[in-house]
Amino acid sequence: MTYIGAHLSSARGFRKMGLTALDIGANTFQCFLRNPRGARARAADPADLAGLRELMSERGFGPIVAHAPYIMNPCSKDEGIRALAARMMTEDLDVMEHLPGNCYNFHPGSHVGQGVETGCRQIADMLEQTVRPEGKTTVLLETMAGKGSEIGGRFEELRLILDMADCRDRLGVCLDTCHVSDGGYDLIHDLDGVLTEFDRIIGLDRLKAVHINDSMNPPGSRKDRHALIGQGTIGEAAILRVMSHPALKHLPFLLETPTDDAGHGEEIRRLRAAAGQ
Ligand code: FE
Ligand code: FE
Ligand code: ZN
Repeated sequence: MTYIGAHLSSARGFRKMGLTALDIGANTFQCFLRNPRGARARAADPADLAGLRELMSERGFGPIVAHAPYIMNPCSKDEGIRALAARMMTEDLDVMEHLPGNCYNFHPGSHVGQGVETGCRQIADMLEQTVRPEGKTTVLLETMAGKGSEIGGRFEELRLILDMADCRDRLGVCLDTCHVSDGGYDLIHDLDGVLTEFDRIIGLDRLKAVHINDSMNPPGSRKDRHALIGQGTIGEAAILRVMSHPALKHLPFLLETPTDDAGHGEEIRRLRAAAGQ
């Protein structure tokens, strides 16, 4: 059975998120570990985290993904903002130590005119400071749409970060279908070609999670506006091909579509039905 879930609001505690996931037919989920638009961390309750751990093993969850806050920019021109990114990631990874074997995903950031090379160097530096070799979490770089000076719109940019970071054994990649299509990869007509390219440049063994989102914009638009599955330019059929691809079907698939938990439940039900599950 496919691991499918959605991004849940994290205001309600970890075990409750696991229960919400079950309620909507999910067996994985994604969440923030803090207010996504602010820097403030909530103190994590070890008993609550243990409760989620137990629930996940009892109910056969796939790996879950914690998502770094959107305001995090490890390749900002401003040293203070880069230091804040490192601090937030350190704190978040400390929480994730209570949930061993799962993933922490972040947007590589925007180099704001410093250039791709400098940006990738700064991202790798932050990873060196924050990702411990004995850590139990796989840290994922997300493929991006390439909006503005965003790093990660090309697979080559993620490769460069991996090459620069000595902690690369603890790193992986999360592929976002909306971002990859907006970034100009032909997910709709040539999934095999895109995955061959991904394998050649990054290596498919690095791919640890997939964000399944439709897109409001045409391929190559570099926009990054998510749409409900089947209501965008990618379409449900192409999303289903991603989910059933032999190289991907073991991975956790997470919806980040613009709807609430009930809406995600409806999308999960439709996707599972279409996949014969
Ligand atoms: Fe993301
Ligand atoms: Fe995403
Ligand atoms: Zn996006």
